[in-house]
Amino acid sequence: MHAARVAMGRRLAQEHPVEADLVIPVPESGTPAAVGYAAESGIRFGQGLTKNAYVGRTFIQPSQTLRQLGIRLKLNPLKEVIRGQRLVVVDDTIVRGNTQRALVRMLREAGAAEVHIRISAPPVKWPCFYGIDFASRAELIANGLTVEEIGASLGADSLGYLSAEGMIEATEQPASQLCTACFSGRYPIELPPAHRLGKHLLEQDELPLGAPEDGLATLLYGVGGATALDHP
Ligand code: SF4
Repeated sequence: MHAARVAMGRRLAQEHPVEADLVIPVPESGTPAAVGYAAESGIRFGQGLTKNAYVGRTFIQPSQTLRQLGIRLKLNPLKEVIRGQRLVVVDDTIVRGNTQRALVRMLREAGAAEVHIRISAPPVKWPCFYGIDFASRAELIANGLTVEEIGASLGADSLGYLSAEGMIEATEQPASQLCTACFSGRYPIELPPAHRLGKHLLEQDELPLGAPEDGLATLLYGVGGATALDHP
């Protein structure tokens, strides 16, 4: 997995090059890809963020405000590393966008000259039903926004996602052996019974008759990243 993540970073640098002074990872999720990005681009690698290991994982906290406070507590920018630098900030995914939005603000406050976000996976547009707890469709920032709009919503100077082909090739595994459901909407393992997930799960043109206004409906029929623009 480590080698594949480094290869994804290399591929990301080929697909989304940028003129910059320093590549920094979002620790720890972005570290291998940042190493790959730096190696491929020739831009120096550095640690511009330190992580407080004692703060809980942000995505299990209940509210938007708490999540953002959590991010503030969890990552600290190293001003002496960041000040005046044009940064490439590498992470593995964007889910709600809260982490990256808070991060961009923190890095600018710490004196970064430019902040270019690079993500070593395609946009996450679909929920995971296989155990990774990361939000409903309504909360996924990549639903309803273009890459440029997501970048603007995060406050970044630019944003680049690795392509699905690039990600799969970096794994050196046949595509048929990989789950890509949260990127592609193609679920490789049968979903739980229709009455638990909604029988129109993958056909979302309109709400089914009698669908609740929140809960399941939010999960399946949300407006996606459109609400991201309203986030503080
Ligand atoms: S790739 Fe599949 S298993 Fe992994 S998070 Fe996405 S949907 Fe879940």
